[in-house]
Amino acid sequence: MKIMVLNPSSVKVENVIRDALYGCWCKGKRIGGAKTPPYPLLLLTTLLRQEGHDVTMLDAPAQHLTVLDLTKMMAGFQAVVVNSSVMTFCEDAEVLKMLKTGADSLKTVLMGAAPTFMPELCLKHEGIDIIVRREPEFVLRDLFNRLDFGDGRWREVLGIGYKNNGSFIVNDFYPFIENLDQLPFVDWSLLPKNADYFNPVIKRYPYVTDLTTRGCPGRCTFCMSPPFSGYKVRGRSAQNVLEGFRKFVREGYKEVYLRDEMFTALKARNSQILSTMIKEKMDLTWVCSAKIGTLTRNDMRLMRDAGCHYIKFGVESGDQGILDNIKKGITVDQIKQTFKWAHESGIETHAHIMIGNPGESKGTIERTIAFLKEINPTTATFGILTPYPGTPLFEKVAEKYPQIKKEFSIDLASLHSDSFFTDTLCELSAEELAYYEKALHRWFYWRPVYLLRWLMRIRSLSDLRRVIRAGTRILDFSVRGD
Ligand code: SF4
Repeated sequence: MKIMVLNPSSVKVENVIRDALYGCWCKGKRIGGAKTPPYPLLLLTTLLRQEGHDVTMLDAPAQHLTVLDLTKMMAGFQAVVVNSSVMTFCEDAEVLKMLKTGADSLKTVLMGAAPTFMPELCLKHEGIDIIVRREPEFVLRDLFNRLDFGDGRWREVLGIGYKNNGSFIVNDFYPFIENLDQLPFVDWSLLPKNADYFNPVIKRYPYVTDLTTRGCPGRCTFCMSPPFSGYKVRGRSAQNVLEGFRKFVREGYKEVYLRDEMFTALKARNSQILSTMIKEKMDLTWVCSAKIGTLTRNDMRLMRDAGCHYIKFGVESGDQGILDNIKKGITVDQIKQTFKWAHESGIETHAHIMIGNPGESKGTIERTIAFLKEINPTTATFGILTPYPGTPLFEKVAEKYPQIKKEFSIDLASLHSDSFFTDTLCELSAEELAYYEKALHRWFYWRPVYLLRWLMRIRSLSDLRRVIRAGTRILDFSVRGD
């Protein structure tokens, strides 16, 4: 089949970080104007090509392609696939509707968080023919292989949904991929040439992203990741991850940004990966996320020696009551200990902070500020909690506002900057939360001692460029917002 795998542009915002399959996306400005390559689409394209399909991957924002440009390019394509989350669905569906005008009998396929958590609502839209829920790779492989036969057996593929004479059919889920080593190594040559995937957390270019695990046993009430990828951590084998890393080095990449939520959970595997990287003196630096409580001081030393220079942590709040309310499963003491070890190891840290949590008040925000002074992360982001579909918090909000189950009301333009019915969860008003969101960024980034520390960290011209480019975006965000 001739298939287009498409990362569409948005007319609402210049940039969307769309690479988390489970759909927790952001606009990148508050994280220094970060952009990321569309990893899930690269993986899918690589896999479908290996199956013999004629696949083109387009990253429209990186290639500066408008919807009109895309419509003109659709002639001859039989299917187009878009990864959509709940905050982009309305726009994505309209794009697909327009693309249908560019090719006769084009099948539009939507994967990602939007169809996973709100399947019927997606199928209602005239721009959508087929939806794919949860992990898309093997579902789409089977779907396109069967569509090639042209005998209707594609309707039996697990994990899809489709329209049938005015009704919507949603099949059972496809089983999670237990052996992730079955997935191919991404073909990075698919990326558009000269695309600017600037990311301030990256120190050495060119860089790639990678995913070595899926799933999380966490019960955080705001998070879409476990409902999307499962409550068990599934990991690629140490051999497979190392083979991928060696390939990056051979292809000239200098750094890898691991996009796993739970990279640090698989200790035995990681110890094998990291000690081999050290032994082989692998010329590859890296960045990852980690859950508080999964790392010891020795783990962090090993990570540093194996090239890790920055770890992102979901701190969320400095108030234990709030952490308990969102079932974060960690304590403020664990957070303090983890940041202390990271500082001792010389690894830079990021703290994700949410406000508008259940039980949030001015007092809990004040405690979070005091806590941040104590743990002293290298960078931090502050966003207003969004109760996403698929999460316990969404269900709680829907008890008072049932309409949120009947429409896609989370808007990309105001994502994390406007509160989304958080009056159900805390005493702070939408205006107060919007004020705190920017005030916290100003407080954190405009401290003279903080700015001085950053200036002292600059070691090269590329460091200087990185700090200026990211810094101006963050300072602009702290005044004007997105
Ligand atoms: S630890 Fe919590 S926030 Fe992080 S991925 Fe797991 S459920 Fe989500």
